[in-house]
Amino acid sequence: MNEALKNLYSVQEIDSRILAAKRAMAGLDNGSSTKAQVEQAEMDYKQLEDKLRGLEAELKDCELNLKTVENKKQGYERRLYAGEVTNPKELEGMEKEIGMLKRNQDKLETRVLELMDAAQEQQGLVSESRSRLERLQAELSGKMETYDNRSKELSEEIAKATADRTAAADTVDEDLLRRYEGIRSRAGGIAVSQVGDGRCGVCHVSLTPFAVRMLKESQEPPTCESCGRMLLAPE
Ligand SMILES: [Zn+2]
Repeated sequence: MNEALKNLYSVQEIDSRILAAKRAMAGLDNGSSTKAQVEQAEMDYKQLEDKLRGLEAELKDCELNLKTVENKKQGYERRLYAGEVTNPKELEGMEKEIGMLKRNQDKLETRVLELMDAAQEQQGLVSESRSRLERLQAELSGKMETYDNRSKELSEEIAKATADRTAAADTVDEDLLRRYEGIRSRAGGIAVSQVGDGRCGVCHVSLTPFAVRMLKESQEPPTCESCGRMLLAPE
């Protein structure tokens, strides 16, 4: 029996390799959470940049308006100081016009300063956001590379172990293999336990002298009284 169990034990070692590789595969970080962060950061960046473009456009408009108002005001003032206008009514109208243009100019100048400050502040936010986006993109590409390499390694490992498993299972009697699968499915993937120091190698419960003797002599695979696993005699 020991020879058959030894072969079965080899099958189990391969099954454990396959299981470990599959678990490692399932536990790999495929970068999906970082990808979601990158997408969010892209949206944030775009939003901040749009706002900056808006502020810059408004600033440009205000500066153009300011220039127009200044030119208009200077035109009136030039005519006024050149003494071109003498009609009191016309004079009064022109002074009123200049006063209005001046108020408009003050308002525009205030707005230009506000917009300059706002655009500068917004530029800072855009830069920060850009750095964050670039950092996340680099992190994602690193993660993706690791994931690709590691999942390729693991797939190869699983394919190789699966071929090894088929070859190893061919050396084991079908009934024994079925029994193995049955125990394995309810005993955490380990159906064959190697005995050491008179104890079950998995649950560590001591074997009775009878069980120890049966290890060598029984035609049926002996099982651990405690955990129910098949017992493989020590070398
Ligand atoms: Zn046991």
